[in-house]
Parts: sequence; structure tokens; C-alpha cells
Amino acid sequence: MVEIHDVLFEEKQINVFVKRDDLIHPIISGNKWRKLREYIQFAQLKGIMRVISFGGAYSNHLYALAYATKILGIQSIGIIRGEELNPKSNPYLTKMQEWGMELHFMTRAEYQRKLIPESINQINCITIAEGGFGKEAIDGIVALANEIQSLGSMDHLFCPIGTGATYLGISQSLPEVKIHGVLTLNNKEEIKANSAALGIPIQELHDNYIFGKYAKQSFELEEFCTTFYQKHHIKIEPIYTGRMFYGLYDLISKDYFKPGSQIMAIHTGGVKV
Ligand SMILES: *Cc1c(COP(=O)(O)O)cnc(C)c1O
Repeated sequence: MVEIHDVLFEEKQINVFVKRDDLIHPIISGNKWRKLREYIQFAQLKGIMRVISFGGAYSNHLYALAYATKILGIQSIGIIRGEELNPKSNPYLTKMQEWGMELHFMTRAEYQRKLIPESINQINCITIAEGGFGKEAIDGIVALANEIQSLGSMDHLFCPIGTGATYLGISQSLPEVKIHGVLTLNNKEEIKANSAALGIPIQELHDNYIFGKYAKQSFELEEFCTTFYQKHHIKIEPIYTGRMFYGLYDLISKDYFKPGSQIMAIHTGGVKV
């Protein structure tokens, strides 16, 4: 954990700390490692030889899965959204294939139905949902929650939300802490429904920092990430941690927190090398 400093934080008398889960591993970083752990342990215990999962062309989850399974000698199959793509479409897909992941490209309609093509052998195999969401992923976050707790008491915790597994996982373990989830997609209702279905009460969801697909907005986020790196020497990316820190800065500047507040933001990784 490190403290980051800014004239804004000083002016508002707020302390901001960053839990550096991005430093876990250069490829299987942050929450992706935490979320995959339980699945991988299960596969190893049961002698499972193949893992199938789903994601978009830039999925951090599939990227981490491809690398983790390569290291562990487990076969992996990635079902990718977009039939127009191929392993050369971006450097991450290329690496995933090099690491041994079998890539299947599907139309968006097929992908939405999450059907596994018949050509894929599903014997002795586990399927991990899109983005790694599942009870195992949520349970894998317990280790993160324990580390956070051992770092001392905080008034507020921040994390970005994709599927919500990380957010629900910390909420499950630290019910006494005010946990803020910064949405990166329009999936607030889904997060609330999962919270209710799993019986995990949640606190604050922030949906003002989703941004659109417009170039001007993505430029603003990119610029924020660059400035953040120049100030704090911590790399962030526009999709998850960029939105989270943008939101945190915005809330601090709008006097959302009482003076004297101690805030911890979880750097969930995602800066691909
Ligand atoms: C995948 C990812 C998230 C989203 O995590 P969920 O548990 O799916 O909500 C957040 N940050 C980074 C860096 C990620 O790669």
C-alpha cells in the first residue's frame, strides 16, 4: 500500500492510499489472479485438463487465463466475441494463441447465447463465465479483503466494477467498511440483482463515470491516466482504474468526503505489457 499526494487532497484534508494489486504479476495482475485462483485450484484438485471461458478481444480475464493455464499445463479455450477477428487482430490475441490458448471467434449473436461450439470437446473440462464472474471468483477475493483489513482501518474503499465479482467479494468480507464501486459499464441493475441473489449487501455504486464511446470522452480519460502517472508514478488504464481514480478525484473535489477521511483505492491491475 502506498499513499499518494495531491494538492487537492491536502486542500480537502483527505488521505488517499493505493493498494497495489497491480504488482502481483505483470500478466496475471490484480483481481484477475484473485478471481482465477479458486477455479485453478479446483481444476488441479480434480485433475481437470481443460478450461473454457468467454470474453471480448481485449479481455483481461482471458489474457490472464491464457497465461495462467500455460504455466500450469492446463489446456485453455477462449471463446471470443466477433467473428471478423482472428489471432492477428491485436497483440493480446496473438500472445494468447502463442501461450497455447485455442481461440474461437463467434458472431455477436452466437456469443450472446454463450453456447459452446460442438466442435469443442467438453469432457474433463470446466467452464468459467465471461469476465470470470462466479461464486469461486467472489470467494477468491477473500484473500484481498484480509490483506486490506491487515493494512489498518479505512473510512472508504474504492474499486472499479466490471462483472462486480471483486466489489461483491470485498463487500462480502468487509461489511463494516464503506465500499464504493465505480461502474465502468451500464450494468448497475445487474450488480444489484447479483447482490440480492447472493445475499451480499452493497453500499455505494457510482454510475457517473461510465463515460460514453465518444472520442472526446476517451481523450479526457486517456489524458487523466497520463497526468496521474506523471504525478504518482503509478500506471493506470482508462477502462477500469482510470475511471475509478477519475471518479475518486471528482468526488473529492465536490466535497463528498468529510475532512480527515482515510480512503483506500484498490489498483486492480489491468495495465497490459
Ligand atoms: C477485470 C477487471 C476489473 C473488473 O473486475 P470485476 O471483478 O469483473 O468487477 C477491474 N479492474 C481491472 C484492472 C480488471 O482487469
